[in-house]
Amino acid sequence: MRLPPTADFQFVPGQYIDVIGPNGIRRSYSLANSSFADKVLELHIRAVEGGAMSDYWFKQAKPNDLLRLNGPLGTFFLRETVDIDLVFLATGTGIAPVKSMLESMAQCQFDQRPRSITVLWGGRHAQDLYLDVDEIIGEFSYIPVQSRPANDWTGARGYVQDVLLDAKPDLTNAVVYACGSDAMIHSAKVRLVEAGLPDKRFYSDAFVSSGAK
Ligand SMILES: Cc1cc2nc3c(=O)[nH]c(=O)nc-3n(C[C@H](O)[C@H](O)[C@H](O)COP(=O)(O)OP(=O)(O)OC[C@H]3O[C@@H](n4cnc5c(N)ncnc54)[C@H](O)[C@@H]3O)c2cc1C
Repeated sequence: MRLPPTADFQFVPGQYIDVIGPNGIRRSYSLANSSFADKVLELHIRAVEGGAMSDYWFKQAKPNDLLRLNGPLGTFFLRETVDIDLVFLATGTGIAPVKSMLESMAQCQFDQRPRSITVLWGGRHAQDLYLDVDEIIGEFSYIPVQSRPANDWTGARGYVQDVLLDAKPDLTNAVVYACGSDAMIHSAKVRLVEAGLPDKRFYSDAFVSSGAK
């Protein structure tokens, strides 16, 4: 989305906007870029079968359509990063705010960077993992996870939270940011807290559907 040249819009990586579409439909989308000097906002939009706003994005939208937006919104953004083991769990387009946060970290001073960064990104199939996450930031661990992979997939299988816990991570200094499906976030929080992560060190943004809000 291109903002008007005079717009004064600031956001913190991880936040989202509400886009107001045709007939006043309002849907939330995370901002996927961290820098918008060119006044462009990057959104990652999933096509939901039968979805009202999906219908607009994938069947009706044209370049130069005028849309209203409201934001920035939300408190899903990075807190302290120094000396911590940062873990991102994402499913589907939940990678969008993670990309924004990773890009912002690539720009921060070396002494402000976390001790380690691990990103687990889950989708059902290979085509759900639509982004080259390795390209975003150097020196971090990226684990793509597929829950219904083809036979030739040699990477991690199952759900991101299970793959993380199966690796028996040291959670002493970990801070976890989880974004995507409600089911993943709920399960990840329960399981990580059981494994010793203080619940104050689990931040999340659930992409609950409009009907569930
Ligand atoms: C804080 C926040 C951030 C979000 N960020 C993004 C984002 O970056 N990218 C993105 O693609 N979406 C994001 N979403 C979800 C988005 O706002 C819409 O809910 C979603 O795109 C569906 O809108 P729709 O109008 O196409 O479908 P609707 O008309 O709202 O729904 C149609 C039907 O599909 C079901 N449905 C809706 N969403 C899903 C789903 N995810 N999985 C399965 N069934 C579903 C509904 O229950 C309903 O039955 C976010 C939501 C929140 C709350």
